[in-house]
Amino acid sequence: MVVSPHRDDETIGCGGTICAHTERGDHGAVVHICGEGGASLAEARSAAGILGVSEISTLSCRVGQPTPTRELLLELVMAFRQHRPQIVYVPHEADADPTHKLTSALVREARWLAGHPALPEAGEPAEGFAPIVYEFEVWTPLARPTAFVDISRHVERKAAALNCCPSRMGINEWSEGALGLARYRGVTSGQGDHVEAFAVVGAPPCVVSASAPRAQTRSSHLSRRGRGRWPYRTVLRGGQADAPRAAHARGGEEGAQGDR
Ligand SMILES: [Zn+2]
Repeated sequence: MVVSPHRDDETIGCGGTICAHTERGDHGAVVHICGEGGASLAEARSAAGILGVSEISTLSCRVGQPTPTRELLLELVMAFRQHRPQIVYVPHEADADPTHKLTSALVREARWLAGHPALPEAGEPAEGFAPIVYEFEVWTPLARPTAFVDISRHVERKAAALNCCPSRMGINEWSEGALGLARYRGVTSGQGDHVEAFAVVGAPPCVVSASAPRAQTRSSHLSRRGRGRWPYRTVLRGGQADAPRAAHARGGEEGAQGDR
């Protein structure tokens, strides 16, 4: 599940990774916090269709009121309890946009509450609910990304999805910015031509071994050359459609301790 502040952030921040998920048959859903301030609903549906996501919905946040209301938290807890996603994507907490910051904070709170007996009006608690959260970059690049997904095979679909949203002012520049950042991440991580970068939250150590059989990982030339000095201590090889699973395997607490 992607929890996206506006109707375009999911494509900008993790459109290629969504393609990798849906290509391998994962069921995806996009929840927009805000129905304003981004693309129109029709444009967002077109973009989601290109990314392979059929289920999108919108919560009640209003533009200019990026405050964590109880109603908004209830809505997100309800969405978590209904969908029970194993992986959640959301902008990172240091993003400069206030609505993006709010979304990141809401996800952290709702992730905990969804499995807790509190808020019975939001449905049955999702027992054992503890999805891994991948925080992506939109307005503000991550200072220390810890997971990388090679989106080279999906970059044209990402660009096509971005171009579904012409109502966004200067969308072509947005497209260039998003693809330029993916190229930068590819060059600096050594993980592919185009790469999406993430910070990982709440990865339990058991997930690493559970996912290892399908993970396509290797140490990059960068990590071999600069272990302990290179800022990206955790590197992922997001090969083929297993990219997110590779991220899953290497982006957790075990991966954060460094490459082997
Ligand atoms: Zn946004």
